Amino acid sequence: MIWANFESRNQTSLQGVIMKKPKYVFVTGGVTSSLGKGIVAASLAKLLQARGYSTTIQKLDPYINVDPGTLNPYEHGECYVTEDGAETDLDLGHYERYLNTPTSQANNVTTGRIYLTVIENERKGQYLGKTVQVIPHITDEIKRRIRLLGESGEYDIVITEIGGTVGDIESQPYIEAVRQMRWELGSDDAIVIHLTLVPYLAAAGELKTKPTQHSVKSLLEIGVQPDILVCRTEKPLNADIRRKLALFCNVTPNAVIESIDVSTIYEVPLVMQKEKLDKVVLGKLKLSTKQDPDLEAWKDFLFRLQHPTSEVNIALVGKYVELPDAYKSINEAFVHAGAANQCRVNVRSVHSEFITPENVQQKLGGFDGILVAPGFGSRGIEGKLEAVRFAREQKIPFFGICLGMQCSVIEFGRNVLGWSNAHSSEMDPDTEHAVIGLMEDQKQVTQKGGTMRLGAYACNLSKGSHAYKAYGKAHISERHRHRYEFNNAYKDAYEKAGMSLTGVNPDTGLGEIVEVKDHPWFVGVQFHPELKSTVANPHPLFVRFIRAAMELRGASSK
Ligand code: GLN
Repeated sequence: MIWANFESRNQTSLQGVIMKKPKYVFVTGGVTSSLGKGIVAASLAKLLQARGYSTTIQKLDPYINVDPGTLNPYEHGECYVTEDGAETDLDLGHYERYLNTPTSQANNVTTGRIYLTVIENERKGQYLGKTVQVIPHITDEIKRRIRLLGESGEYDIVITEIGGTVGDIESQPYIEAVRQMRWELGSDDAIVIHLTLVPYLAAAGELKTKPTQHSVKSLLEIGVQPDILVCRTEKPLNADIRRKLALFCNVTPNAVIESIDVSTIYEVPLVMQKEKLDKVVLGKLKLSTKQDPDLEAWKDFLFRLQHPTSEVNIALVGKYVELPDAYKSINEAFVHAGAANQCRVNVRSVHSEFITPENVQQKLGGFDGILVAPGFGSRGIEGKLEAVRFAREQKIPFFGICLGMQCSVIEFGRNVLGWSNAHSSEMDPDTEHAVIGLMEDQKQVTQKGGTMRLGAYACNLSKGSHAYKAYGKAHISERHRHRYEFNNAYKDAYEKAGMSLTGVNPDTGLGEIVEVKDHPWFVGVQFHPELKSTVANPHPLFVRFIRAAMELRGASSK
């Protein structure tokens, strides 16, 4: 086999910067949704990165919203926010957690965004005289968005995950764009991985290949022959099944990759490595395998995760608890923080709508830590306030995120400062004590999509605070997604009564962190720390919160 000398593919820009010439890997899904395309894409990227290839992942979403920012979490899970302030699909969270590199708006494109661009171009007269059509105008815009990442010159390999399932009406233009890109680039520079399901029929005692054959057939109808099959399965694929899949789906025998169910998503890169997915991909792309993947740190993380020496119970108080994906990044940040402390973190959801002063002891009494989650609107707010009061009075470690932080300010205003009607103007616009108010630059905003305070902002920490101790430095940057803020007119009253602002934005003076004195660990943050927690860098505030919970548990068991 002839391996391309990869370095010689790259070019040097006028400024002397090495511009990498990327290869493209497309990931499609067949048979059913929820097979974990995002995790497989992230695992492959991790393996390629661990072999020394600079890799990024992009998600193309076939819905018509311009971004998921306007979607209820019940619809599509959490909205993930990038450094540059893009509201994106939660799969980008997996990409960052696995690769430990930031993503951006370019990493997530929806059908809505594609159409918006094409329609705006049409209005500007860019296609004057032409009928604007799905092919070529929409497909060209899809290809342009895919190439944008590659043309940055930063990546050796761009992995593009096509949302939805092959055969859906919505994903057809994307598959067509993939077909065209493969034709344009050739099969050494662009390959397709098809993630599919091989179900086990208990009654027949057999694994079934037919659904996979049919889904590959739907891909072929659009002209795309997959190069690699990744097969989700409950039972190992024997040699016969592998041969059958290879033969009928027209792929090389080594390109049938088993993806067996595992207990944690963080095992998937190792399972994919065992199946040689990375080697098969590099072989098809005619790239050298370079070094063996360096996965020592990853394996160490997994060991600590799977061999805990202690345990804590954390209450996650929120109103979207029916759908675990609504708090995806928070749950994953707990996994990272648990591993960092070699502690099993049992996160239990507690529905804020059903917490009352009468039942709060029964609902939250046994927990070692209480986290009040982000959110919007008044539903469940009184229950969240009750949870904050309980944590503050009972001296249970407390972590409030975004709305959770705002609730801690409202609760303190009501129960410590004695302003029984203290509130956020989001819930009660006429309150006498708007301790949380609409940000000045939000007052003119009328459009809903992409108009919150979004993305990374700087924050200065007070020495001696819990936050400072956690980060170990005074200047940090964190990601935001909100319209309301701590009302600085109340700052002095709060500080005197024992709640201080320990994190402040250096440019605007906006209060980003509150802490309560005389409490083992009570921290509310206006930003979303969970978005920056990765396997390689567990978030320091989550790590410290778990440590405080471990201390409480240790103390109470003595
Ligand atoms: N609803 C609050 C605001 O807009 C909090 C938002 C959040 O929790 N992400 O400020």
